[in-house]
Amino acid sequence: MRALITGGAGFVGSWLARELLNRGDDVLVLDDLSTGRYENLEEIEDGKRLELVVDTVNDPTIVNECVKRTDVVFHLASAVGVRLIIDQPVRTIESIVGGTEVVLKACARYRRPVLITSTSEVYGKGSKIPFSEEDDRIMGATTKRRWSYACAKALDEFLALAYWYESRLPVVIARLFNTVGPRQTGQYGMVVPTFVRQALQNETITVYGDGEQSRCFGHVRDIVGGLADLMGCPQARGEIVNLGNDEEVTIRGLAERVRDQAGSSSEVVLIPYDQAYGEGFDDMRRRVPDLQKAARLIGYRPRRPLATILEDVIAYERRHLAVDGPRG
Ligand code: UDP
Repeated sequence: MRALITGGAGFVGSWLARELLNRGDDVLVLDDLSTGRYENLEEIEDGKRLELVVDTVNDPTIVNECVKRTDVVFHLASAVGVRLIIDQPVRTIESIVGGTEVVLKACARYRRPVLITSTSEVYGKGSKIPFSEEDDRIMGATTKRRWSYACAKALDEFLALAYWYESRLPVVIARLFNTVGPRQTGQYGMVVPTFVRQALQNETITVYGDGEQSRCFGHVRDIVGGLADLMGCPQARGEIVNLGNDEEVTIRGLAERVRDQAGSSSEVVLIPYDQAYGEGFDDMRRRVPDLQKAARLIGYRPRRPLATILEDVIAYERRHLAVDGPRG
């Protein structure tokens, strides 16, 4: 089988490419290298089983060509990272809504099964623990740019489900909770690579807000296994499925664990949200996935706990700091 991965040079996409190659599939990656990096694929690109097309997912001609040449489509291309979303809202909305529209149209034309990656952000500010797929969504005001990401992704979900409803196009939607692991860049604000780099350089670890907000971090290798399994699961068609890990940690607790596991002498400091993201920022207090549906459909369970995740990221960043020297 040959799979198209849009955004396949990104953090999650490149891990998915590895997973599919290991399972015996061929892979075509479409990525404009805006946030993706060729280095993410360097080790596995052999010019035979993995092919890279550098272009945008917003171009229907290119996307049609790629979809036609492949059997299944994983749509991962998207703006990511709270920092990028706050700083470049036009790009965020246009690339998410426009890109998914183009991909779904092409999949409908050639009748290709398609997996759309969505996000736990779509649950918004709901306080229910854990979040399950049928829960209501609570969004902040449209003046708070952060929510543009959640709303754009929710529209992607609506469109995918509309294709399923109207023409039984095989679609599945994966809602990814905080996904982390080696090769994730801290450039767009993600907390784990940021804390790990700060700790390894004995710099101040910057916890935003009061640090009592919490998250659940999933190892990218668990997540991409789930994505590949969902594509192969006929019962998952027309469904939305959470993927992540349900081990919860406060952000202050995370900072301390990173510092201790890295053997660092960094100080942990609290930074007000306004100072971190500018005025009018809204954070989510807690975000825990209900993983029962994923377990039922594909036998999914997260196998790598936070301790393993941190170990992997610390080892990766340590190697990179030694080779590249300190980075931002
Ligand atoms: N965060 C932090 N320090 C940082 C980067 C992020 O305290 O240097 C916080 C952020 O405010 C949020 C949590 O860590 O409460 C997770 O942030 P991230 O951007 O990784 O993911 P998301 O907010 O999308 O869950």
